Amino acid sequence: MKKEKVLNGIAACEGIAIGKVFLLEQGENLFFIPIKKISKEDIKKEITRYKEALELTKKQLIATKERILKALGKQHADLIEAYVSILEDKLFTRDVIRMVEEQEVSIEYALSNALNRIIQMFEMSDDEYFKGRSTDIHDVGRKLFRNIIGKERKSLEKAKPGSIIIAHTLNPHDVIILKEKNCRGFVIEVGTKTSHVSIVSQGLGIPSIVGLRGITSEDIEDDDEVIIDAFKGMVILNPSAETKKKYNEMHRRLLEEKKMLTSLITFSSETIDHKKIGLVCNIDTPKEVESVLAVAAEGIGLYRTEYQYIDRTSLPSEDELFNDYKYVAERMYPYPVTIRTFDIGSDKLSKLGLEGVIPENVPALGLRGIRLAFKYRDVFKAQIRAILRASYRGNVKIMFPLVSCIKEVEEINKIVNEVKSELTKEDIYFDKNILIGVMIETPSAALICDIISQKVDFVSIGTNDLIQFTLAVDRHNENVADLYEPLHLSILRMIKNIVEASHSNKKPVSICGEMAADVGFTKILIGLGIDEISVPPSSVLKIKRVIRSTSLSEAKSLVEEIFSANDYRRIEEIIKKERHKI
Ligand code: PEP
Ligand code: MG
Repeated sequence: MKKEKVLNGIAACEGIAIGKVFLLEQGENLFFIPIKKISKEDIKKEITRYKEALELTKKQLIATKERILKALGKQHADLIEAYVSILEDKLFTRDVIRMVEEQEVSIEYALSNALNRIIQMFEMSDDEYFKGRSTDIHDVGRKLFRNIIGKERKSLEKAKPGSIIIAHTLNPHDVIILKEKNCRGFVIEVGTKTSHVSIVSQGLGIPSIVGLRGITSEDIEDDDEVIIDAFKGMVILNPSAETKKKYNEMHRRLLEEKKMLTSLITFSSETIDHKKIGLVCNIDTPKEVESVLAVAAEGIGLYRTEYQYIDRTSLPSEDELFNDYKYVAERMYPYPVTIRTFDIGSDKLSKLGLEGVIPENVPALGLRGIRLAFKYRDVFKAQIRAILRASYRGNVKIMFPLVSCIKEVEEINKIVNEVKSELTKEDIYFDKNILIGVMIETPSAALICDIISQKVDFVSIGTNDLIQFTLAVDRHNENVADLYEPLHLSILRMIKNIVEASHSNKKPVSICGEMAADVGFTKILIGLGIDEISVPPSSVLKIKRVIRSTSLSEAKSLVEEIFSANDYRRIEEIIKKERHKI
């Protein structure tokens, strides 16, 4: 009998899954192919083999596009375009062929060599986005490899309902199949939390672990028992009776909790002493509207629009942007939808072929968000036009990211007015009273929020960036993750300042960073005077439960207690005690 073994990876989508292994592929690394010399006469044959495999791979990818389009929508189907464009890159065409010709080596060796080089380059990058893209190269490379050596991968279609997939890698469309087959989760060797496969698993709610190197080389076979603890990023192979009991119990509790939370759907999000706290959602794609409606949230507080610009080789048209915004606005009506204009850095725009995009050393502090928008004014104006047009179809607000000075806020207002005049001239309808807001996510904006809030209709605190900039802690760097402290006194003071400054101008304050989704912080945020909390749909009911069990007066006392305790240890104690009560 096999012994229990615990392995650790990265949790991609939270949850617990208990099931039997479906091992998609045994540990074998197609990317480490020993050098094989070929004769001069074989070069042509080798290159033909390669070209045929390239074409076949492209055809297979395009064939899956329809399926993705149906299951996940256009933005995910566009990923396939990105995969195809990887295959069309000169690395896969000219360079590999040149190596075969010049060094007289097999195509397998030339390709593995090139793939390893580029994957290593991406993985060594400090930028999470590029790290995530190495998985795409992996996926495409493996497909191509299999077509060259004619090796079939075991088919996911054969996976039984209830199984847990273990593989070297999965493509986003594999995850759809897995969901259709009622598989319970998956574990793969590659990937980070921001890889496409992780994003898709979060969208579909499939517990999953990524980046678990060597999992397919473990002593595992089909039908072995396995547990995924995707809260902790843990995989337990051959769990003991005791472990199984523990996780069955945990799973049962999670289901019960889910049922209990569902009963809160019809209740309003107000405190015991009847202070209404707005409770809305963050979404990253239009598909997620259904999850927002499922938890009966009262609107969308942050609709990130980056998905419309990344992983593609041409800019979206104004109509393409408009159609998505219109869909979300109409589906959510009469509830408000706050559309945030794109917050991307030049790193993510590189494929779009915009002129003057150059790599930067610190993209987080570089030409991103509103700064990039000002530089590419036409691209920015097209997005504002699309948002304004959609505002006629629902209850739309517009929000701008990463402002750091008054001049930027004035420029935003000027551009919005310009677009409004253009639309009026063209007889195009829009909501003339559309509310305009900015995100407060730089310390400079937080400190001058008294002036900024005079010039806009609302503000929303983006704590993800505000914390990283205030504490000088890169939000993506695991080496300093323990210093990323949302309850740092400086952050609490900043939130207090933002709320007081905005309220003095009678402007509401929302909070939409990840911090807002932590139930341990809800009472403090209420006590600080936040008007609206915006979180992923999966967190809405958990937060509502805390709001409904808190009184405003209690929350205010808690905040006073924290501010008057001058010692961080004491603050930690107070917070720990509060967390215990949840
Ligand atoms: C934030 O910075 O808190 C935020 C919500 O924006 P993003 O995570 O998209 O940078
Ligand atoms: Mg931000």
